[in-house]
Amino acid sequence: MELNKEILGKKRKKYLNWDQFFMGVAKLSAARSKDPNTQVGACIVSDDNRILSIGYNGAPNNFNDDEFPWNREGKPTETKYMYVCHAEANAINNYLGSRKDLKGSRIYVDLFPCNECAKGIIQAGIKEVIYLSDKYNGTDENLVSKHLFDACGVTYKKMEDSNQIDLIISLTPDTEIEIKGKEK
Ligand SMILES: [Zn+2]
Repeated sequence: MELNKEILGKKRKKYLNWDQFFMGVAKLSAARSKDPNTQVGACIVSDDNRILSIGYNGAPNNFNDDEFPWNREGKPTETKYMYVCHAEANAINNYLGSRKDLKGSRIYVDLFPCNECAKGIIQAGIKEVIYLSDKYNGTDENLVSKHLFDACGVTYKKMEDSNQIDLIISLTPDTEIEIKGKEK
């Protein structure tokens, strides 16, 4: 069959690469979080680029959001830290398929995982972490996460600067997503 040469090689130039797409899904998931201070999203992806699961930080299932202690300060039992489920843990637990599908997968998360999530990631068999922010770099929790990953063969990388773009998504009819490169 003769293909019309005019149309070959004319694919759209400005489209999302895989890292941008999956981090975008993680960020969009974070928009579901009701935490007034920190919104984190995670997206687990198979080695053939299929989304296996997503998660964001929030109250445990059936815990009424309006009665959840969202505070950051005060008595430990009255702050969110002892109650909240993190994005990575939710993404792992939200996966309703076979746990063995998570083996060898990678996880996109917009904040570097805490040590509790690091353990969950390791135990689930996830092999790579791609993150955007490492704002708690150097804290005890963060150092333990990295030590756990290093010791257990999980690699981690910050999403490349060149992949850090702005997306403007309008949920109104007949609009295109605007993709804006980061100005350096
Ligand atoms: Zn965590």
